[in-house]
Amino acid sequence: MANVLVTGGAGYIGSHACKALKMAGFTPVTLDSLVTGWVEAVKFGPLEKGDLLDRAWLDDMFAVYEPVAVMHFAALSQVGESMQQPGKYWRNNVMGSLTLIEAAVEAGCLNFVFSSTCATYGEQDNVLLDESCVQAPINAYGASKRAIEDILVNFGQSHGLRHVIFRYFNVAGADPDGEVGEFHQPETHLVPLMLDAIEGKRPALTVFGTDYDTPDGTCIRDYVHVMDLVDAHVLGLKWLENGKPSRVFNLGTGKGFSVREVMDHSRIVTNRAVPFVEGERRAGDCTKLVSGSVRAEQELGWVPHRSTLEVMIADAWRWHQSGHYDG
Ligand code: UDP
Repeated sequence: MANVLVTGGAGYIGSHACKALKMAGFTPVTLDSLVTGWVEAVKFGPLEKGDLLDRAWLDDMFAVYEPVAVMHFAALSQVGESMQQPGKYWRNNVMGSLTLIEAAVEAGCLNFVFSSTCATYGEQDNVLLDESCVQAPINAYGASKRAIEDILVNFGQSHGLRHVIFRYFNVAGADPDGEVGEFHQPETHLVPLMLDAIEGKRPALTVFGTDYDTPDGTCIRDYVHVMDLVDAHVLGLKWLENGKPSRVFNLGTGKGFSVREVMDHSRIVTNRAVPFVEGERRAGDCTKLVSGSVRAEQELGWVPHRSTLEVMIADAWRWHQSGHYDG
């Protein structure tokens, strides 16, 4: 079976991608520092522990596994933290990715699937976002991801590296089989925090900002199920294997939900109200991020089967109540 190097394969999205790759007949080789990832999440192929800034280690990985492609998930991804510690984001995300990209081209591994973000778009005056929108990130996390997109374009021009860049909207849910799920330490994402609050593991959810220019005053996001998201990655890999050109795809559903609406859906799914308090805005948060693109559906044949709030919250809830990694 062909090997695919999966950076961040021990993390939330990476571990689900490893499962999808295995099911599609590839061997996912997880490269992970285990700083934010979990050994227990690596179930579908080998694990190699190391740091993306370690070029000698990366060269070894390409020599040993001779991968047909790289799927690059490893990154720091907290908007709030990126505003406090931008250097951490530029060093880990940008320099780590540059080191990885240089190692890949030198090894002749020229197919690269990259997880980028809708945070690269920034505030866009209430429009639905498609891939042609100007990228104007308002936080260091988004800026670091946009910089990596630029690096990929440059290495395409210089070395023939071909990429599929996925700009994710808000990822939620868990593997319905319960083999892997979302578990961050510390947790900063809305859905798991909300479920923790419901279970009494935290006092209450703080709603970050209730004075946004939206119908109910809270931020609007486009939520996509992690299983649908990783399906798109396998399609992106096949796109590259079939010799198609570098391409950028949004991964969202085109439907926006406010923080209050997400809480309402959680109450319906779990039959329990979300304890919450209204708080200040979080630095770096955009008012509204919703995809306005059907490019992934049209060109990749992507069908996001599970991306309704009900299914995402139900799958997350099941995972939340049953399985967790140690920590
Ligand atoms: N959010 C919130 N309270 C929290 C965490 C998140 O109100 O404790 C809001 C946040 O302001 C944003 C949405 O929930 O509007 C999704 O945030 P998350 O951190 O899950 O993802 P992001 O949009 O930052 O990628």
